Amino acid sequence: MNLELVTVAVPVPLYRNFDYLVPENLHGRLQPGMRLRLPFGRRQLVGVVLEPPREGTGSTGDYKSVAELLDDAPLLPRELLGLARWAADYYRHPVGEVLSAMLPGPLRRGQPATEPEGDQRLGLSAAGHEALARLPARSHAQRALLERLAAGPQPRGALKTDAALKKALAEGWIELLTPDPTAWSLAETPPALSAEQTAALEALRQAQGFDVTLLQGVTGSGKTELYLRRIADVLEQGQQALVLAPEIGLTPQLAERMRQRFGDGVAAFHSGMGEAARAQSWLRARSGAARVVVGTRSAVFLPFARLGLIVVDEEHDTSYKQQDGFRYSARDVAVLRAQRLGIPLVLGSATPALETLHNARAGRYRHVELRQRVTEVAPPRVQALDVRREPLQHGLSPRLLDTVQQHLDAGGQVLLFINRRGYAPMLMCHDCGWSGACTFCDARLTLHRGRRRLICHHCGTQQPAPSACPSCGQKSLQPVGEGTERIEDALRNRFPMHRCERFDSDRLAKKGELESLLAGIHSGDIRLLVGTQILAKGHDFPGLSLVGIVSADQALYGADFRAIERMGQLVTQVAGRAGRSGGAGEVLLQTHEPQHLALTTLIAGGYPALAEMLLKEREAVGLPPYSHLALLRAESLDAALPLRFLAAARALLAPHAAEVMLSDPVPALMERRGGYSRAQLLLQSNSRAALQKTLAAGVTRLDGLPEARKVRWSIDVDPADLF
Ligand code: ADP
Ligand code: ZN
Ligand code: ZN
Repeated sequence: MNLELVTVAVPVPLYRNFDYLVPENLHGRLQPGMRLRLPFGRRQLVGVVLEPPREGTGSTGDYKSVAELLDDAPLLPRELLGLARWAADYYRHPVGEVLSAMLPGPLRRGQPATEPEGDQRLGLSAAGHEALARLPARSHAQRALLERLAAGPQPRGALKTDAALKKALAEGWIELLTPDPTAWSLAETPPALSAEQTAALEALRQAQGFDVTLLQGVTGSGKTELYLRRIADVLEQGQQALVLAPEIGLTPQLAERMRQRFGDGVAAFHSGMGEAARAQSWLRARSGAARVVVGTRSAVFLPFARLGLIVVDEEHDTSYKQQDGFRYSARDVAVLRAQRLGIPLVLGSATPALETLHNARAGRYRHVELRQRVTEVAPPRVQALDVRREPLQHGLSPRLLDTVQQHLDAGGQVLLFINRRGYAPMLMCHDCGWSGACTFCDARLTLHRGRRRLICHHCGTQQPAPSACPSCGQKSLQPVGEGTERIEDALRNRFPMHRCERFDSDRLAKKGELESLLAGIHSGDIRLLVGTQILAKGHDFPGLSLVGIVSADQALYGADFRAIERMGQLVTQVAGRAGRSGGAGEVLLQTHEPQHLALTTLIAGGYPALAEMLLKEREAVGLPPYSHLALLRAESLDAALPLRFLAAARALLAPHAAEVMLSDPVPALMERRGGYSRAQLLLQSNSRAALQKTLAAGVTRLDGLPEARKVRWSIDVDPADLF
């Protein structure tokens, strides 16, 4: 018997797709990209059609049948389906889960894809014009409506849903107008470009078809202005633009900047928005109503009617890499998407990732640089502050504190940067040496003095902070090391006349808190800021004159091979906050290692010099970008199982590992976390293709290993961290 069958991607963690029987009433109607409701085991799931249906043989009893067709037209455009399949292959993640990750919640659950009504524009049809001429004089409301539309099309949202409108729709007097993609205009007059910006724009405009440009420029050099110009170029051609930002917190301000320039037609897309709002942005990108979308990582998978340009701002930021589940890099997917679409891509940063710099040097990317600040304020001076043998108070040296005083006296604002929350990373007994450790992790508990708790920053476990030593009972507990709370306390005690505020994720968890604190900074009310990397990025602080980095030492000995690259990026970004309008700023970096080559290089030559040095090191030892990595991780409550699984995985992969080095399975740096024991195996190759081949041959079979049963494992292609 001949049957109609359809291959469907289902959101389950399995490396395979499923065939379903197409019931007769749906014959000839299914197209790739449509959603279906499907029976799956005892549940019903929403799946996506991958291929046009085909004829099959067998009996109807061999297959489950499609329960419901959810879309009249493909919800996912062909381009996006192709991108999903590529990403699933490249990152070795089940395609059903990839597709599901691309859909906003309501659509993922099968709700109808109805475009926001506000975007619809209504006009008077030919029948409407005729009707208007014939309308009896007493139909005041009806006449008013039709006359209004006769004067010009109206947004749906501007019209009241009343009897007159309903009748006009029912009679066919009104027609739905497709938005005219070229009908837009600038909402503000752009500033005249500096000579350097003009040259850079010229270079950016050379891009034809697929073309990646690294736009490297210090903070305040006018990169965003150049994005705006390039976006205007593509809007002029009736196309859309996608702008990626690394963090939710930075999206609203970037979107606002776009709105000032381009008016409405700018949509945001990030996880801080409600699901319904996200779905609207998704649909508006798809219909073309959103000309510009500003979003975080997952926006790289938005459907677009006519995408003409992608901009990745702060492209070096590791937030672009998803660290669990579907572990993709939005920057890298953006490059691939631009390539598939044949459109230009701009990667912007003051501190490009070494991978990106490497591509620029190899000639794969254009490299455009902005060396001056638009504001003509000199870039801040960065100085190392040798704290050896200095009497530190809560981690702060007398020289740093004196400099803070000077800047406060001169009316400046001061930011102290420390990338650790809480009061102190350890609480220790001075009598017996007890220190608070997490029961579930190989880690110390961080003292949060405000909340009087000891909290594990790795698994979230917490307990009340003891007042006496739990081991010897003495009242000799001492906080060791510093976090944001401690620096805040120290500053408040030392400078009680000046308002001091802390910026970290603990403090900013409350909605609206960031906005109100930022307002306090801009008004000049807040004079002292203590913050983590939340403050290092994007935000503009015109009054900031001094930045103090409490310690750079930890990064110098960081276990990850990228630790120094990150340190250089972070220091440069934090420093970039200083002296944006008031005059040159000052940056002091406390260290016990003032002679460390990474620090002296960074201070003398800035990030470009550090990057140069690090690239040489990476090349010498064959690390990325001179090789390619994938990390196989496993974890289990039973400490022996992860290593056993990885040994079996290694044996399975080894025969396929041509030109690929497989490490031995080793315990993770922090072996126990959240009660799980963790281990990992590194795959490394000079050839991306060879690495992909090994992964393709092996990864989908790992679940078949008997050792896989009691572990959770994951594969991370191009990992951002190696632990
Ligand atoms: P970046 O993105 O490199 O940090 P921005 O584009 O945000 O730099 O520019 C920094 C500041 O200078 C912003 O306030 C911006 O409005 C302003 N600016 C940028 N280009 C110009 C220009 N050509 N003329 C005047 N102001 C400009
Ligand atoms: Zn003790
Ligand atoms: Zn823990």
